[in-house]
Amino acid sequence: MEVGVLGAGQLGRMLALAGHPLGLRFCFLDPTPNSPASGLGEHVVAPWDDSAALARLARADVVTFEFENVPVDALHWLRDHVRVLPNPRALEVGRDRLQEKTRFRELGIPTADFRAVDDEASLLAAVAELGTPCLLKTRRFGYDGKGQALIREPAEASAAYAALAGQPLILEAFVRFQRELSILCVRGQSGETRFYPLIENQHREGILRLSRAPALQVSPEQRASAERHAERLLADLDYVGVLALELFDVGGTLFANELAPRVHNSGHFSIEGARTSQFENHLRAVCGLPLGDTSLLGPSAMLNLIGHVPPKAPLLEVPDLHLHDYGKAPRAQRKVGHLTLRARDDAELETRLAHVQALLASG
Ligand code: AMP
Repeated sequence: MEVGVLGAGQLGRMLALAGHPLGLRFCFLDPTPNSPASGLGEHVVAPWDDSAALARLARADVVTFEFENVPVDALHWLRDHVRVLPNPRALEVGRDRLQEKTRFRELGIPTADFRAVDDEASLLAAVAELGTPCLLKTRRFGYDGKGQALIREPAEASAAYAALAGQPLILEAFVRFQRELSILCVRGQSGETRFYPLIENQHREGILRLSRAPALQVSPEQRASAERHAERLLADLDYVGVLALELFDVGGTLFANELAPRVHNSGHFSIEGARTSQFENHLRAVCGLPLGDTSLLGPSAMLNLIGHVPPKAPLLEVPDLHLHDYGKAPRAQRKVGHLTLRARDDAELETRLAHVQALLASG
């Protein structure tokens, strides 16, 4: 069976690494040559809307995506010629913060209060309504904290507008959360759904640095509410595959911030930390195979390697540490790899994590 993948970045690479043992073949479409997934299947290097490239992808048995900003027309063309999973509607909702938050609200999922911003006057009105601090964000193409401006007081609104104007915007109330969590789930073609345990995430400069699974001190009510929110989204989007929902923990109540209609950085721990990784489960779902066990093998952590891959030898001496080097050129603020750590219990994980963080700080 051949899986077509829009995007050949590290997520595509890890999908292929999980799919090869299942006997799956891969064809990637990505305009960037020498991408992380290039060596793991056929890589069609062409623009996203190149008709010959899309026709090649349509010869696969199923097409999925690891990159969200594929042009809508290309997706629609593909959908008419081959099975595209998950449903491209999930991608259209997930990449527009206004549609996404509106959908959350319609489904009864709490979010930060928000307003659409079309011009400076509507921004000033929205700032007056939501109060400060608040965050002005681009509706599209925001990732890793890009395309955002914090408005600490109303006088800063015009400068924030000037920094982001020219594209559709959304203003969000600033949420004073205690921590950031995410839930990953997988839905099969029969509608069967499985959840990974809640994950706790730490960001710096808008970039995910550390994920810990399972998140500590999660009440059964919180877990049930995260699963309920995710389940509603999956059903609403008639979704097949892995979906991640990013959440803010606000005094125990979970606010949805963002959905990712694909495998997600906070789920990388699952490659070595869960009985079935998010990558394998995504492939099982889109290929119509039985879903795998989402339970953990032990407390796990994932550390992103940002900018460059540090010296490997000292890291590889740490027990139960796994290094993933995406083969990307070093560049400031770029995710070039990650580490996963697994332990027998929380105390052992904390000790190993502290040791690895010290190694990273020195490398
Ligand atoms: P995003 O691009 O929406 O994922 O935002 C990147 C990061 O900014 C999040 O992980 C949060 O740490 C922070 N953030 C985003 N939206 C809000 C908000 N409404 N209130 C407070 N912090 C936020």
